[in-house]
Amino acid sequence: MAGDTFTITDGYRRTEEAFREACIAAGRGLGEVKLIAVSKTFPAEAVREAYGLGQRLFGENRAQELTEKQPVLPKDIEWHFIGRLQRNKVKYIIDKAAMIHSVDSAALAREISRQALLKQVEASVLIEVNLDGEETKAGFGAEGLRQGLEEIAALPGVHVLGLMTIGQYHEDPEGSRALFRRMRALRDEAASWAVPGADIRYLSMGMSHDFEAAIAEGADYVRVGTAIFGGR
Ligand SMILES: *Cc1c(COP(=O)(O)O)cnc(C)c1O
Repeated sequence: MAGDTFTITDGYRRTEEAFREACIAAGRGLGEVKLIAVSKTFPAEAVREAYGLGQRLFGENRAQELTEKQPVLPKDIEWHFIGRLQRNKVKYIIDKAAMIHSVDSAALAREISRQALLKQVEASVLIEVNLDGEETKAGFGAEGLRQGLEEIAALPGVHVLGLMTIGQYHEDPEGSRALFRRMRALRDEAASWAVPGADIRYLSMGMSHDFEAAIAEGADYVRVGTAIFGGR
């Protein structure tokens, strides 16, 4: 890319092509893996440009940004909330996000349940898992997952559909593979618990630098920002 300027159109096309190739290499049917374009910090105009190229799933990590962009953009956009969600912000996004990827505590899930009942919606959520045990990252460890899942899945108005993780940044994207593989094994194990009310199917993992490895290891949702929209 030396010398030329970044455009969203180029970023999107390159990402889409790499995404498609990774799906084919992994033997995943098109449409089986979902590409979420992470538009955080970028204006509605940027979303509109990617939308014009055919993108329909977008990810935001701040309640305020989502509530600002959602009303001015096409109604068939599917918004995914991917960032740390403060409990007092749940009410702003509960009826705007198609899926909340980042449920990192039972307390947050209880507020999601409360707001879902108030707004009469069903909240689709993923449970955030932190297998690295990094203090700076939110989420359930492997040990606490089952109990958390049982508690969250029992809440009315909350539909648990799988697990999400934010990997560590590795210079070499292959470095993320071991974590992705452990996530897949954990998803399969969690599904085997057959927790009442939970429907453990999806894995949300992989970002700009490692989404191909995530697809190879079984991701159902990849969350790609920088590669599509440029640096933040
Ligand atoms: C920002 C963000 C992404 C996208 O990261 P990029 O490296 O820009 O692709 C994915 N997931 C989460 C939770 C994020 O906050």
